[in-house]
Order: sequence, then C-alpha cells, then structure tokens
Amino acid sequence: MSTDKQIFARRESEARSYCRDFDTVFTKAVGSEMTDEAGTTYIDFLAGCSSLNYGHNDPDMKEALIGHLQGDGIAHGLDMYTAEKAKWLEAYEDIILKPRGMDDYKIMMTGPTGTNAVEAAMKLARKITGRRNIVSFTNAFHGMTMGALSLTGNAGKRGGAGCGSLCGVTHLPYDGAFGDDVDTLGIIEKMLSNTSSGIDKPAAFIFEPIQGEGGLNAASQEWIEGIAHLAREHGAMIIVDDIQSGCGRSGTYFAFEGMDIQPDFVTQAKSLSGFGLPFACLLIKGEHDIWKPAEHNGTFRGNTHAFVTGRVTLEKFWKDDTFQTKVQEKAVQLTAGLQAVADEIPGAKLKGRGMMQGVDVGSGELAEDICHRCFEKGLIIETSGADDEVVKVLVALTVSPENLRKGLDILLEATREATKNHKIAAE
Ligand SMILES: *Cc1c(COP(=O)(O)O)cnc(C)c1O
Repeated sequence: MSTDKQIFARRESEARSYCRDFDTVFTKAVGSEMTDEAGTTYIDFLAGCSSLNYGHNDPDMKEALIGHLQGDGIAHGLDMYTAEKAKWLEAYEDIILKPRGMDDYKIMMTGPTGTNAVEAAMKLARKITGRRNIVSFTNAFHGMTMGALSLTGNAGKRGGAGCGSLCGVTHLPYDGAFGDDVDTLGIIEKMLSNTSSGIDKPAAFIFEPIQGEGGLNAASQEWIEGIAHLAREHGAMIIVDDIQSGCGRSGTYFAFEGMDIQPDFVTQAKSLSGFGLPFACLLIKGEHDIWKPAEHNGTFRGNTHAFVTGRVTLEKFWKDDTFQTKVQEKAVQLTAGLQAVADEIPGAKLKGRGMMQGVDVGSGELAEDICHRCFEKGLIIETSGADDEVVKVLVALTVSPENLRKGLDILLEATREATKNHKIAAE
C-alpha cells in the first residue's frame, strides 16, 4: 500500500515540522528502528525527541498496556483515584524519590504536555513569592504555550505568538554563553545584587541542566550549584526543567543528581510514560504545595495508560544501578563516535553529556546537509541550536551496541560526504 502524501500538504497545517525532514510514511517501529511503508528500515537517533528513551514498543510496556485494555481498565478518569495511579505513585515514591533523598516532594499531575508542567511551575512560583519576574537563560526552550514561550530564547519560536505579550521574564546568559572565558555566574550575581541593574526581584530561576533545543549546552555542576545558591540568596524559587534531560537521558534519572541542589520544582514529561504516551508532572517541594483544589485544573491530567507503562519503566529500568551503568557505558561509546565525526570538520566541537550529545559543526547549512544525507542512508537524526548548527543524537537509551555503531558509522560517512561537498562549494 502506498499512501498519497498529498493529503498532508492539502489538509495538515503548515505548522507541521519533523515530517518535512523525514519525508516518508512510517508504519512500524520496534526498539531503535522505524520502518516506512516501502519497507525501508531506519535507525532512530531522534527517539521522539527523547520521548522514547526506552525505544519503540517495549515488549513489557506493551504487554502491560494490552492487559489493562483487555481488562476494561480505566482509560480516562479525569484525576479521580484509580488503582493504576496509586501503583504508579507508589513505584515513583519507592524507586525514584526515596533512594534520592527526595521524600519531601509532592507530585502534581498537570496537563499531559511538558509545557503545561512549566506553566504550573511558573504560576506556583509567582503565587508563592508574590513576584512576577522569572529569570530564564539564553538558548532556553521550555515549551510553546504563552507562559513557557516567554521563557524561551529562540526568536523564531517566540514569533509564533504573533503580537502576544511575552513579558515578565529576564533572559540572562547561560553557562558558557559568552565563551569559556566569561564567568556568566559572576555577571548574573552582580546584576542581581545591583539594585540599579533594572532587574526586578525574581520569583524563580528556571533552567535546563542540558539545553535540548538550544544547542546541547551542558551547564557545569559549579554553575548549577551557583544559580541554586543565588536563588536562595534572593528568595527566588529554583525550577529545574528536566523534561528532555530527565528519565535517564543524562546518564542518571535526573540530570542534576550528585549536585548540591534541592530544586523547589522539577518538570517532567517526554519519556515519563516510556511508551510515547502523553504524560507530564511537576515535582513540588512539599512546603510549596499551596494550591487550592482545582486551582490548576485540566481535563487530561494523569493519563491512566501512561501510569501503566510508566510504572513498567520504573520497575524494569530503575530498581537498581544496572541500567544506569549500561547507559553511562553507551555514552562513552557515543562520545568516541562523535569525536570521530568532529575530527572530520575543522573547528567542530562536541556538545552535551550522557546520551544527550552532539557535534557543533559550525553552520546550520552543514548540519542540515549531514542530517539529510543520514536520512538517505537510513538514519533519522536532527539538528539543534540557535542556527541549527549542532547535529544532535537522542538515540534510545536501550539501543543495541550494533545499532549505535551502525548509526554512528552512517553519521561519519554522511559527514565526510557533506564536508567534501561544502569544500567544493566554497572553492
Ligand atoms: C520538549 C520540552 C518542553 C515542552 O514539552 P512539550 O511536551 O513539547 O510541551 C519543555 N521543556 C523542555 C526542556 C523540553 O525539551
């Protein structure tokens, strides 16, 4: 069967995006492989933008979900008490929170997308502090609804708001934003302590430990701890947006593990369900949970199917260190593979950390050429960064060593071809 792709151009909004780069009709996916209707199989180095950290159609999640459906389990129950919600909460408490010394966090079920968890955090921080201003950082991405978009750096994305007001935010430089020699933490400290800097006392600081869309900038432990300290000093809340960098992507469950920081709020979404089902939540330090019933409401809060698959992710992958150790080993293999890619391009730099790494190839044009060639060779991979200059790997954490190797080989070959081509074009 061959789908007439005209239907998409004819009927689907121009806002569609990824399908333009990966212009084929997909029918099946297993693990780190996606197959289109022509029968071509692609290695997936995008993994639903980190929504599929455990790969496509994990057999245990699938089995649990089918069992739930077959048994007429609840599909939608607003935010009523369900057996599946209880089981997910218990698993999250036992497997994630308690072993990490985070027993004092409450879990708020927000609307099912990451941006809704961000909105909830913004509202609560403003409500608690009675302040309006929120500090976010250069190259940040926090979602597309009006509040979250006001925190986002990218001009193109901000432009989507039309003439909507994206106010109440101060954008300050992220770690390394002015190069390695400029201490942005020191600058921010001075700006905040100077009562004539023009910056209103912030309700919160919000940051991604690793900037997913903004070019895989990974903040140092020192910077993150410094920002946390600064927030405390100024009576501001700390919001860690771990939507893309969380659920094991960085090499640990949370990207800030092992750091001396106690966030007031942590946003989670993307791989929380583990199966690609929409599910987001906000972790709230207990003392801040001042919501009145239904004050941040929503029809779809706590997707019951996602509770089923999400619980499997916790029990299958996070009960001990085995999976985490394997992920960290794969990250070493990934770094080596990307170093080989970077060695092909003068001035190229490795970015990110853990299983959230990429190569800054210096120009968006080259990065896009590389990704395009990869797709032709059977690899799905995307760019990131202000000018799309970073070739970014977000392969599933469960990828087999063979598929990781194969994907990296394709990437290297595509890079060689693209750089040769760009040299010729430049001459
Ligand atoms: C994807 C993402 C969001 C928004 O999540 P959606 O589910 O797309 O609304 C917010 N913050 C970060 C860091 C993200 O990567």
